[in-house]
Amino acid sequence: MPSSISHGLVAVAVGGAILPKLASRRCLVAGVLCAILLDLDAIGRPFGRGDLTFLGGHRAITHSLAFAVLLGAVVAWAAFRDPRWDQHRLRIGVFLIVATALHGVLDAFASYGDGVTLFWPYSMERYSSPWQPLRGPNEIWWIWLPVLSVILLLKRLRQSWSHELSVKTPTGTLLLMTLALGACGTGVDCTLDDPAAIRLVVSDRVSGAPLVGISGTVTSASYSRPILCYTSSDREECFGWAASGRVAVQVTREGFVPWDTAGVQVAFTGGACSRPIMRDLVVRLQPTP
Ligand SMILES: [Zn+2]
Repeated sequence: MPSSISHGLVAVAVGGAILPKLASRRCLVAGVLCAILLDLDAIGRPFGRGDLTFLGGHRAITHSLAFAVLLGAVVAWAAFRDPRWDQHRLRIGVFLIVATALHGVLDAFASYGDGVTLFWPYSMERYSSPWQPLRGPNEIWWIWLPVLSVILLLKRLRQSWSHELSVKTPTGTLLLMTLALGACGTGVDCTLDDPAAIRLVVSDRVSGAPLVGISGTVTSASYSRPILCYTSSDREECFGWAASGRVAVQVTREGFVPWDTAGVQVAFTGGACSRPIMRDLVVRLQPTP
């Protein structure tokens, strides 16, 4: 998935375009929460468990357009019941729906992971864009910088049109919120086509220096095992085991900062996927000798 930071930023930009006041803290926080909490359908991954099957798995029901309408309407009704919101409730609802719906649409432009069941409940077919520019650090160029520019532009425009911007944008709150959830985005889904047993190896790509503080799990349909790390004289090597089939790998590293998610290409030998996990860390799947 694009990171929670990307989804949160897009929600803020949508708020700037739709909301009666760009700086309405309550509206923006609600929109950002709607936009980033959809990935809770993969909440089991950090704990070595699978995706939430009753939601159809990751990027399924919660990422559909129908769910966005439902969630936006419910939150607009439940969180903005006070009479002072009467005049704006419809606009707030539209904002929440658009901010939520864009999460699934953005995910369809990512080069990793499954497609998105955009049209649930009519179809469980997963859709991916034929053009998928979102890949690791590309988010900075394709989402962060353009969206931040749009946010600043909208702020300027609104300031020149009126003086309604009297409250500060809750940048710190939004940043903390998105960072806290960004740490969930380090999983890798990989479909292996080699029927032999596969050994998963985690090692430092650049220097081969000892990797300290690595932990994680490798999960297949039938089991979930911790990734084991061994320290020798010159390096720490971590590995787990996986059979053929669909495998989820979840790795965390001490001191990991969510925006470091980008920066490394993960290679799977004997597998059929690759994606960044975090800086200078490579996960490889190798046939067992
Ligand atoms: Zn997602």
